[in-house]
Amino acid sequence: MEQSAIDALSTNKVASQKHLIDGNAIASSDGGTMDVISPIDGSKLTTIARGTAEDMDRAIASAREAFVDGRWKDQPPAARKRVMHKWADLIEQNALELAVLGARDNGTEIAMALKAEPMSAAATIRYYGEAIDKKYGEIAPTAKDVLGMVTQEPVGVVGAIIPWNFPLMIGTWKIGPALAVGNSVVLKPAETASLTLIRLAELALEAGLPQGVLNVVTGEGGVVGEALGLSMDVDVLAFTGSGATGRRLLEYSARSNLKRVYLELGGKSPHIVFNEADDLAHIAKAVAGGIFRNSGQVCVAGSRLLVQDDIKEDFVNAVVKATTQMTPGNPLQLETKIGAVNSSNQLQQNLQAVAIATEDGGNVVFGGKRCLADTGGFYMEPTIVDGVKVSDRLFQKEVFGPVLSVTSFKDEQEAIMLANSTDYGLASGVWTSNISRAHRMIKSIRAGVVHVNTYGGADVTVPLGGVGQSGNGSDKSLHAIEKYTNLKTAWIQL
Ligand code: NAD
Repeated sequence: MEQSAIDALSTNKVASQKHLIDGNAIASSDGGTMDVISPIDGSKLTTIARGTAEDMDRAIASAREAFVDGRWKDQPPAARKRVMHKWADLIEQNALELAVLGARDNGTEIAMALKAEPMSAAATIRYYGEAIDKKYGEIAPTAKDVLGMVTQEPVGVVGAIIPWNFPLMIGTWKIGPALAVGNSVVLKPAETASLTLIRLAELALEAGLPQGVLNVVTGEGGVVGEALGLSMDVDVLAFTGSGATGRRLLEYSARSNLKRVYLELGGKSPHIVFNEADDLAHIAKAVAGGIFRNSGQVCVAGSRLLVQDDIKEDFVNAVVKATTQMTPGNPLQLETKIGAVNSSNQLQQNLQAVAIATEDGGNVVFGGKRCLADTGGFYMEPTIVDGVKVSDRLFQKEVFGPVLSVTSFKDEQEAIMLANSTDYGLASGVWTSNISRAHRMIKSIRAGVVHVNTYGGADVTVPLGGVGQSGNGSDKSLHAIEKYTNLKTAWIQL
C-alpha cells in the first residue's frame, strides 16, 4: 500500500448522506441532519440524516415487504450466493476508499482500518455467501412409521445496531449471516461512524441485492435505535455496544413483541503472563498491542494485565518500552500505530477513568494525558496504571480507551481468581510454556475466547461472543446463522 494513494483520497469532499430505504437515498421526515466530526482534527466532515421514528418505521415496513414477497429469500441459493460473492468483490475493489472514509469518520489507524474493516467485511460476506448452499436440514432418528424433518427458516426482519469502533467488521458479522439465510435487515449505525455502512449498503445494491432487503437509518440511538427496538414488526435485534444500551434493548423487547435480542457488550479482558513464559520483550509487545491498537477501542482489548509477581517489575518495564514505540498520530499515515479516539466525549471518559484509577491508589507509570491537542483532534497517550487492586474501579469497569491496568498474582489459582473477578467474560490471553497449565487455564477462565501465546487473532471461522455481562449469542462462524433462523419441525405420519 502506497501512502500517496491514501493521501489522494484523504482530502476528498464527503457528500451529505441520507438514509437508504427501499433502495433509495431518503432525507429524514423532518429534514433533520447531524454533523459528522472527524476525530483527526475536530473538523466537520459532512452531515448525515438525523432520523425520526417515522423514518425507522418506513425502513422496517420496506424490509417486511421485501421479506414477505420473497424477492430475496425465494431466490435459488446459487443466485443469492452469486450476489453475496459479487458484493464481497466490490467491497474489496473499494477497500482503500472505505478504509480512508472510515478512518476520517472514526479515527482508526489506516493500516489497521484496511485489514480489520473492508478486508474483513469482504471475507465475512464471502464466507456466509458460500455457506448458503452448504447448510442442510436434518432428518430425526424417529420410529419407522414417521418422518421427523427439521429445517431452519429465516426469522423475517432483523434489526442490527452497530457501534462506532469497527462498523464494517461488526456490521457484516450481523448482516452477513442474516442476509445469507434470506432475512431482510434494518441497520442502525452509530452516530459517529455511519459513513462506511451507508457505502456498504450501496455496494450491496450494486451487487444485485434487491431493494428493501437491506435498509440503513442513521441518527440518534435514543430515537431511531429505540424505534427499532420497540417495533412490533422486527423479529430479531442484534446489537454490539454498551451494557447500558443492551439493557434498554431487553426492555424494549419486553415492552413490545418479545423479539429475540442478541447482545455483544463490552469486556475487561485479562491478559495473563506466567513467569515461565519466555521472550518477555515479544510478549510485552503483544500486551501493548493487545490494548493500545485503535486507542483501546476494541471489544476484546486485553485491558487488565495480570503478571506473576516475581517477573512483574521486569515485565512492566518491557511493556513500557514496547509502548514507547506506539506514539499516537494522524490515522491517515501508514506508519501510525495508534490513531485518534473516536469522539471528544470518549476522550473525556478515558481521562476521567485515569483520574479515578489514581484516586483508587493506582500508579500511572506511562502516559495518562491527552496529546496532539494542537491538531484539534482527539488523541490520548497510551496509558499504563500499575498497582491496581481487584476492588478498584479500573479493574472492574470497561474504559474502552487506551488504558492498561497492572495487577500481580502469586500462583495459577490466584491468576484464575483475578481473571474471573469481573462481571464481564469476553476475551482473555495466557502466556505460558507449560502445556498442561495452558489447558487448565482454557478450562478455568470464564470468557468467550482464550488466546494462548498470542493475543487478539481470529477470523470468521470461529465464534466470538461473551458470557456474563459481556452478552449472549456469538457472532461469526456457522453458529451465528442460528441467531437469524427459526427451527421448524415437520412430523409426518408415513
Ligand atoms: P452505545 O451502546 O451507546 O452505542 C452503540 C449503538 O447503540 C449505537 O449505534 C447507538 O446509536 C445505539 N444506541 C444508543 N442508545 C440507544 C437506545 N436507547 N436504543 C437503541 N440504540 C441505542 O455505546 P457507545 O456510546 O457507542 O459506547 C459506549 C460504550 O459502549 C463504550 O465505552 C464501551 O463500553 C461499549 N462499546 C463496546 C463495543 C464492543 O465492541 N463490545 C463497541 C462500542 C462500544
